[in-house]
Amino acid sequence: RGKKAFIAGVADDQGFGWAIAKALAEAGAEISLGVWVPALNIFKSSLERGKFDESRKLSDGSLMTFSHIYPMDAVFDTMADVPEEVATNKRYAGNKNWTVAEVAESVKADSGSIDILVHSLANGPEVVKPLLETSRKGYLAAMSASSYSLISMVQRFGPLMNEGGAVISLTYNASNRIIPGYGGGMSSAKAALESDTRVLAYEAGRKYKVRVNTISAGPLGSRAARAIGFIDDMIRYSYENSPVQKELAAIEVGNVAAFLVSPLASAVTGHTMFVDNGLNVMGIAP
Ligand code: NAD
Repeated sequence: RGKKAFIAGVADDQGFGWAIAKALAEAGAEISLGVWVPALNIFKSSLERGKFDESRKLSDGSLMTFSHIYPMDAVFDTMADVPEEVATNKRYAGNKNWTVAEVAESVKADSGSIDILVHSLANGPEVVKPLLETSRKGYLAAMSASSYSLISMVQRFGPLMNEGGAVISLTYNASNRIIPGYGGGMSSAKAALESDTRVLAYEAGRKYKVRVNTISAGPLGSRAARAIGFIDDMIRYSYENSPVQKELAAIEVGNVAAFLVSPLASAVTGHTMFVDNGLNVMGIAP
């Protein structure tokens, strides 16, 4: 039986979520996506117009397909949490059942169960502001979108997961080391995500017999990273200073994700795995 994966946080073919989808599709998994509501129309029309066909190509020549594409907004757990201005926003109009609980219900109705849950999303409205200048609202928004969203997903999708299943998310080493420019509480959000990965590994491990890990990735010029502004400098810094001198390809993260959610990693849980060409082990720039 092919494994069933649900991936939250794909809205184009540039980010880690897409690369994880590809690595899992190569391994024979059936993929469903949760796409951020405001990005859904563009994603779907680009997919239909063939804009992603080149990046959909699998090694056997076929094109990666998605069983289901759901609208999703991971900062809301149920409709009761959705404020009026979002509910009536024109970018949300015409979509329904996009809160985390509702998406989980739709996935259950369509697929019954899943084996793999991927969290590849983050948002920090004040990411360009230093922590010292971050507002309470901005800080809490970063935590809500980038950290609590994982807890919410494990809460709601855990009951749908088959024993032996696995959860994976994406983090960044700004959780442990000072990365000037990664502001707005995003460094705090990644620290929380890594700690929550350990606690969820225990709690969801006992409750659902699933594993929970996170990948601490090196810099990639995704859409989210472009919004931070300093990604080209980070890519250059990483190239110049890492033990392995090459640019990080998204698929390298996708492949490690595929390993971590596979039976090859059946005893690995609660772990933060670096996939960063080794930059994290350097003490000072050479
Ligand atoms: P990306 O833009 O491809 O992915 C981020 C996705 O999150 C987007 O598809 C966006 O639509 C979605 N999103 C934002 N808010 C959402 C919400 N409320 N509900 C649902 N979806 C929402 O960029 P990426 O860089 O591949 O990011 C994926 C993950 O990788 C993030 O957790 C990011 O922090 C992490 N990461 C990125 C880098 C990097 O350099 N790009 C490095 C380390 C970790």
